[in-house]
Amino acid sequence: MKQVDGEKLLASLGEGVNQLRGRLTPDASMERVTWFQAGGLAELMFQPHDVDDLVTFLKLLPAEVPLTVVGVGSNLLVRDGGIPGVVVRLSAKGFGQVELVGENRIRAGAICPDKHIAAMAMDNGIGGFAFYYGIPGSIGGALRMNAGANGGETSQRVIEVHAVDRQGNQHVLSREDMGYTYRHTTAPKDLIFTHAVFEGYPEERAKIRAEMDAVRQHRETVQPIKEKTGGSTFKNPPGHSAWKLIDDAGCRGLMNGGAQMSSLHCNFMINIGHATGYDLEYLGEMVRQRVFEHSDIKLEWEIKRLGIFMPGREVKPFQGATTE
Ligand SMILES: Cc1cc2nc3c(=O)[nH]c(=O)nc-3n(C[C@H](O)[C@H](O)[C@H](O)COP(=O)(O)OP(=O)(O)OC[C@H]3O[C@@H](n4cnc5c(N)ncnc54)[C@H](O)[C@@H]3O)c2cc1C
Repeated sequence: MKQVDGEKLLASLGEGVNQLRGRLTPDASMERVTWFQAGGLAELMFQPHDVDDLVTFLKLLPAEVPLTVVGVGSNLLVRDGGIPGVVVRLSAKGFGQVELVGENRIRAGAICPDKHIAAMAMDNGIGGFAFYYGIPGSIGGALRMNAGANGGETSQRVIEVHAVDRQGNQHVLSREDMGYTYRHTTAPKDLIFTHAVFEGYPEERAKIRAEMDAVRQHRETVQPIKEKTGGSTFKNPPGHSAWKLIDDAGCRGLMNGGAQMSSLHCNFMINIGHATGYDLEYLGEMVRQRVFEHSDIKLEWEIKRLGIFMPGREVKPFQGATTE
């Protein structure tokens, strides 16, 4: 049974939507958006044409309608009941550009793939961006998650972030305003990042190329990058590696329905066929329970879980959890 009704929500927005240039899709499939290829519908998806279009939309959207922004879905688990309200997915045309804006500075739209920034930096002899080459997300997701790898992190490179809030007001944030820590920012949760400026340093192209090749080769060997996955399922607890705790608790290869903890990298959850959001989230909580029982450590989800459960298919946080 459908838990959300996009046509009804769209109709409730009235004629104001006729001035929009972006695309509105009721009951949009999130299976098509997420790397897991699982989960329910977005009640109403909006793909703004550009920043002005996004601002216009936010100003006409009633305050009580829930709003969620997604990037390219490489860190998302969508629950089977779907995502109530509006899901904003930035269009590549309006938010996908990457360009040089000064010495060692690159400006990128929020839906620009991370690896495009890495490639632009390499072409122009700018160091400090090779780590982005192996992260399959978008810049918006990287800004929200403080994405990082191979010793590099978004927080080290970003100098200016442009965003729009729930009321449609525009903001510019500095690196300090973003309040970055490991895979976390204190930037208000309602902000939709639209683009950002990054700064690197002069570096020989051959050296950058070699770094990027090393990043790619490493990933191909240790991560199930060709599977339907959401990347690292849990954050590394201080002083520990999540994968090691999961391995020690006997969860490598553990399955629930169509979901499995990868045998190649056991902090990666994979959809091995037709996993539901329920299968994936339940497996995650099973792992948290077993790790807690084995090592007394509470793993925290790195993957963002969105939406509502199907009635009768709710997943409770594991017994030792203090927060969700
Ligand atoms: C195979 C694989 C390998 C991975 N390796 C790494 C890795 O090495 N390091 C790493 O850090 N991550 C890794 N990830 C996880 C993921 O790629 C990153 O977290 C990425 O930054 C998420 O970007 P996204 O566009 O996919 O965001 P989504 O998954 O769509 O969303 C993630 C979060 O970002 C928010 N968000 C997205 N866009 C915006 C925006 N414009 N404004 C505000 N908020 C926004 C969403 O609301 C959500 O909370 C990996 C994932 C996979 C599948």
